[in-house]
Amino acid sequence: MSYARALRCRKCGQEYPLQPINLCDFCLSPLEVSYDYKAMARGLNREKLLEGPVSMWRYRDMLPVEGKEVDIGSGFTPLVKADNLGRELGLEQLYIKNDCVNPTYSFKDRPVSVAVTKALEFGFDTVACASTGNLAASVAAHAAKANMKAYVFVPANVEPGKLVGAAIYNPVLVTVDGSYDDVNRLCAALAERYDWGFINIGLRPYYAEGSKTLGYEVAEQLGWRAPDCAVAPAASGLCFTRIWKGLDELSMLGLIEPVDTHMYVCQAAGSSPIVNAFQAGTLHVHPVEPNTIVQSIAIGNPADGYYALRVARQSGGGACAVSDEEAIDGMKLLAQTEGIFAEAAGGVVVGALRKLAASGDIKRNELTVAFITGAGPRTQGIVEDIVRPFTVRPVLESVEEVLGVGA
Ligand SMILES: [Zn+2]
Repeated sequence: MSYARALRCRKCGQEYPLQPINLCDFCLSPLEVSYDYKAMARGLNREKLLEGPVSMWRYRDMLPVEGKEVDIGSGFTPLVKADNLGRELGLEQLYIKNDCVNPTYSFKDRPVSVAVTKALEFGFDTVACASTGNLAASVAAHAAKANMKAYVFVPANVEPGKLVGAAIYNPVLVTVDGSYDDVNRLCAALAERYDWGFINIGLRPYYAEGSKTLGYEVAEQLGWRAPDCAVAPAASGLCFTRIWKGLDELSMLGLIEPVDTHMYVCQAAGSSPIVNAFQAGTLHVHPVEPNTIVQSIAIGNPADGYYALRVARQSGGGACAVSDEEAIDGMKLLAQTEGIFAEAAGGVVVGALRKLAASGDIKRNELTVAFITGAGPRTQGIVEDIVRPFTVRPVLESVEEVLGVGA
């Protein structure tokens, strides 16, 4: 059973029934799922959670769903002790939450699994989304599993591998001549006109909740404790806020000790409105025109930027931007130390870790979790300079001569 009881305005507190709506009629602020935490605390304990499936759905009772879940096997991804990368950066207790290994290769499978489950519950036969690429793939895959129709809208300049990554599931794939922010505006207009379940518009309050499982899993995988520091990338900022919410809920439910995790948000310098605001000491996010190769997080007008800022500030964390070059170096370093091929957003996380460790913001002995949210192979073009093979004839002598090995 679900403990979700209403949608609640994050600003004025007005409550609404659990319907596919995402904005408050009174103040136009985003709505969020509100739960009966007292009942949840009575109904849940660690043992019960451990009996659940080895996927994000082991936390089903903490998610706002009633119907049978649309499950392609998302979540419960590895938490890897990153000793090699940690040695390189001067961090002794560094862990990587490797969300590259989700079914469609990014963390988006978590929120989408919840949102598509809700779409079915609400009786939609069609789902849709605005995406920088990863979300499109995840929505299309979940729609395929749920026998629903999917419309996915992406900017025309999205990487070719991301188009293939969505098209393989046979959605109606639409490229839009504009930026992600243009695509988002277009989808808001479409959502008013068509009775489609827009994953990151009308279904956004439910979609948001899926990313809490990142926080839940990390705490469970650390032996039921929150990390000292967490570093995660931000596009809209939503996932960042939900990692925090996941940890916070566990402590509220008495499943872990009170949380004192410093939350660090990172962005590419060419699209860093949240980091800019943090560094300027304001909670007001000024939109920017993205100019970065880190396209998966290139959102110039982040919908949850304000809330992400609040989490970074109130948790005693921080914000960090890295250049495209630093992001690419980070991708290579992560692959070459830990064997994880992340997309450029993962490189941003590694670049930010390097800076935060060097500046002493993150101390050498603090238990730190880096969230690597998407895999690299769909955008491998940006690191193709790495390919410098030795060329030999198919005989031993040629190998020995070219590689300089042998007797
Ligand atoms: Zn309101």
